[in-house]
Amino acid sequence: DTIGANLAATAARQPRNDALVDVPSGRRWTYAELHGWARTVAKGLLARGIGAGDRVGIWSPNCAEWVALQYGTAMVGAILVNVNPAYRTSELAYALRQSGVRLLVSATTFKTSDYRSMVQQVRAAGEVPALTDVVWIGDGSWAQLEEAAATVDEADLDRAAAALSADDPINIQYTSGTTGFPKGATLSHHNILNNGYAIGRLLGYGAEDRICVPVPFYHCFGMVIGNLAATSTGAAVVIPAPLFDPAATLAAVEAERCTSLYGVPTMFIAELAHPSFPTTDCSSLRTGVMAGSPCPVEVMKRVIDEMHMPEVAICYGMTETSPVSTQTRVDDDLERRTATVGRVMPHLEVKVVDPATGRTVPRGTPGELCTRGYSVMLGYWDEPDKTAEAVDAARWMHTGDLAVMRDDEYVNIVGRIKDLVIRGGENIYPREVEEFLYTHPDIEDVQVIGVPDERYGEELMAWICMRPGAGSLDAEAVRAFCAGRIAHHKIPRYVRVVDEFPMTVTGKVRKVEMRRISIELLG
Ligand code: ATP
Ligand code: MG
Repeated sequence: DTIGANLAATAARQPRNDALVDVPSGRRWTYAELHGWARTVAKGLLARGIGAGDRVGIWSPNCAEWVALQYGTAMVGAILVNVNPAYRTSELAYALRQSGVRLLVSATTFKTSDYRSMVQQVRAAGEVPALTDVVWIGDGSWAQLEEAAATVDEADLDRAAAALSADDPINIQYTSGTTGFPKGATLSHHNILNNGYAIGRLLGYGAEDRICVPVPFYHCFGMVIGNLAATSTGAAVVIPAPLFDPAATLAAVEAERCTSLYGVPTMFIAELAHPSFPTTDCSSLRTGVMAGSPCPVEVMKRVIDEMHMPEVAICYGMTETSPVSTQTRVDDDLERRTATVGRVMPHLEVKVVDPATGRTVPRGTPGELCTRGYSVMLGYWDEPDKTAEAVDAARWMHTGDLAVMRDDEYVNIVGRIKDLVIRGGENIYPREVEEFLYTHPDIEDVQVIGVPDERYGEELMAWICMRPGAGSLDAEAVRAFCAGRIAHHKIPRYVRVVDEFPMTVTGKVRKVEMRRISIELLG
């Protein structure tokens, strides 16, 4: 199916069920209403001369219009380009130019971001010649887009929709930029709709489910695991706030009686630590997804017990694979559900190879994870060389992640190839050291990186966030805690206590940036 046809089918099946709730503005839509709204937006796009293959950018924090535009563009076959809401002018110009955006839909302002003046700057500088039209969410121009729909016949939209193929590109999603410059993964209806549906099925979603989505729509976590998993199974999406806010998320879970809650690990950590957490009623929660970066076992256990999410799942994936490749199952035992990223999704393949030879390694041995199947992107937009580096001739996506395939076919992610630390010839997976340090009662969050060292090549450094009310920890105390409990070479030489880590807008820790700061500090 195409994404538009899928939304239409759900709206026909359960027109009166909730589809979307925008908590900040107090607005809500049933499936019939969301479908109608998406058709209005689609006709508005046709009226503006936007059709199949045209690129339409969206630059905004989470809001209901984001969702309407996602479905509206899909209905006319336009390619939605997700632009990171944290961007500034040079990055904005790059993304718009690289993807050839014709129409941009943008928020006017949000907090410290004056989107309108940034767009005006890049246009005035002549940096985005293809961009001919801008629609602002929150002033009259969004309403004009909807009004223009009146000039287009329903039959015109139906004709446009009938000409689409599920294999057409429908989305350019930029990767998080955790390890460098973001890459624009080009994805089809088929890629992301199937993935969303498979995830929703494994979570047991149905019309009674209400998913709290505090992760950005601009990223695959929000727009696929959120929106598409919901529409394809009939669940509702609840938007707690424009950008992640732990208090607003907890309040939305309680007020909207959400059954599912999403987040990257740092979001769950912030919610569990928030002063309003103990008085929040989480009893409606049943399931959810933790994904995006390594999910600490201790945090998973707290989410299961204290947030009442017995069926929470861990997903592993990447933007380039729509995104999810492996997922824990709700009936897995506790060990599998907290200490692994699950097993391969239905209809996909995974293998673990030696990055040097490309040969599959034995079970239990770390190597590079590769995935293949319907979820692998069409390619990086307009970058055939980068695509060829990532996706080989047999269509295997090389993820750049180090993984171990266990005997029970569950997968462990041991880290990114780029984050592997080699100290005195010994491979150290920072993840393993982080997991150990999480067991310290005063440590709320911890990240371990390698820093250059003359003697050993690299040494370990731990950045630590303390629990509220806990004192501080110095290197000596941390080393004493580790002594005799983890191998000597895995004990961090340096410790730095911080309030927060450098993050991407998708909530991922930027170890590249941590390394840069640490090297400067160590002088
Ligand atoms: P970039 O490719 O721009 O450097 P990125 O890889 O962080 O950024 P995404 O596509 O958002 O961009 O994230 C995919 C990556 O996130 C995976 O390759 C993996 O390293 C990490 N990841 C995702 N889920 C998990 C998980 N459950 N456990 C561990 N790591 C995960
Ligand atoms: Mg990546």
